[in-house]
Parts: sequence; C-alpha cells; structure tokens
Amino acid sequence: MDRRKALQLMSIAPLGAALTLRELGRAVEDLPSTPTMPMLFLGHGSPMNAIEDNAFTQGWRAVAKNLPKPNAILCISAHWETKGTFVTGMEKPRTIHDFGGFPKELFAVQYPAPGSPALVKQTQEVVTSAHIGVDHQWGLDHGAWSVIIHLYPKADVPVVQLSLDRGLSPQKHYALARELGALRRKGVLIVGSGNMVHNLGVIDWRNPEGGYDWAVEANTRMKELIMNEGHAQLADYRAQGRAFQLSIPTPEHYLPLLYVLGLKDRKEPLKLFNDRTVMGSIAMTSVMVG
Ligand code: ZN
Repeated sequence: MDRRKALQLMSIAPLGAALTLRELGRAVEDLPSTPTMPMLFLGHGSPMNAIEDNAFTQGWRAVAKNLPKPNAILCISAHWETKGTFVTGMEKPRTIHDFGGFPKELFAVQYPAPGSPALVKQTQEVVTSAHIGVDHQWGLDHGAWSVIIHLYPKADVPVVQLSLDRGLSPQKHYALARELGALRRKGVLIVGSGNMVHNLGVIDWRNPEGGYDWAVEANTRMKELIMNEGHAQLADYRAQGRAFQLSIPTPEHYLPLLYVLGLKDRKEPLKLFNDRTVMGSIAMTSVMVG
C-alpha cells in the first residue's frame, strides 16, 4: 500500500466504522525484498565498549563496513527478558542506561535510531507458533545500543528489539528463531547480542586479557560445535559438562547465539571474530553468518 492510500485509510476512520487492527496493519508498508542478509552474534562485554575505541569495537566496525546497508535491525539482546515474546513497538525507542557504577559520559550517550512499525508487523506475521506481543515501555537496552552504535554510528537504521521469553527452553528459542528466516530476505539484519561465556559472579579484574581454564575449555568446545553445526548439543548446553555450567550460570547471555545459529542455513559461510576471553569469565567471541 502506498503512503497516500494509507493516509486515506486513516482519514476516513473517524467518519465510518472504526479502523480494525487488521486494516491498521495493512496501512504499514512492507519492507522491500532483498537478497538474504548476513547475521551477527556479538559478544558485547562491558557497557564501556559503547564509548571506547578498542580491538572489540574495531572488530564490530570492520564487520559492519562489509555488510549491505539493512532496511532495519532486529536485535535479540541478553538484557531484555519477558514472560512471552515481545517486540519494541515505539517509533522512537528511548536509550536505556540499564547499568550502574559507570562514568557520567556513558549515561550521557543517546542512540536515537528510529523503530520500525513495518518490522514489528512482519515479525508478528512470520512467527506462527507463538503470539509476538508489541511492547511500548522498553526501548533500546545497552545490549543493543552499545554494539549497534559501532555498526551504524549515525543511528540511521531502524532498530526493533525482540525479547527473550523466560518460559522457553533453549530448544524452543532455537525453534522460534527458525521462524524469523523470511525477515532476512526483507533486508533485516538479525543481531544477537550477549556473550557465549558469561559469569559475572567470578569475574577476575586482575586478568583483563585472559580466561579461567573452564572458560577457555567451554569457549573452545562451543567454537568447534559452531563450526561443525553441532546445534543440538549447543541448545542442550546444560548436558555439556562442568565447563559449560560454569560458563552459562544463567541463560540470557547465551541464548542470543542460539537465535543466530537457528537462522543459519547449513550451506551459509560462518566466521568467528573478536575471539578472545577477558576478565577470566567473559568470552567476546563473535560470529558472522553469510
Ligand atoms: Zn550483557
């Protein structure tokens, strides 16, 4: 539907029968079709990466330079867990500073990327196994903006976040991801943002450049499974032994990886980058698919 028709639809609403939700949905233009977009899983680490220029932020920037410019971004961030699955529906999502104890300059950062009603609508259409709710409270948390600010510093690509449903098993998250595939052919860049090894409880400030033995062991095994399509084992991470249990004490930083893997076609190329373990218990290892 073109913009003029959409406006006509809006303008007749007060006169005639109330516009149904379905008609309103039609008034939002679809995102145009494109070749299949690549995907990213980004190990985000410290929120300070948002304002630092370091090897990790340089890695994110280098990857973005080689991507086709997306029509929109769908970001699955470790920092938005909900009951049920939601997408952010606002046209101007706020920048959420969901952390404490960091310098003022980090709290001053705004990332004013617009939302995307078209992506919200199309996400609801492609997922048939569950109802995707539309949220108007959240915005962009630091799992999203602290990395996307390096991919698109001008904030000129619309961003929608997809929440992590606390009630789903890892296998269900993986299956839900697979339903999002059609979005990749609408110019949507899927960005999972977390850390495949993430245990803040035992973080080692004296070891900024290294990892505990178990963190390195789990990270090495995860990379082998990622490179060899061992997705069933990666989804069944609780059965992969002590190193995995220590590396994934809670699932939220790990699950965004399963979304990216769930969406990967077997034939698609995959590369790892920013492949380092820091502070003992955090792996920054990132993945690009496509
Ligand atoms: Zn985080």
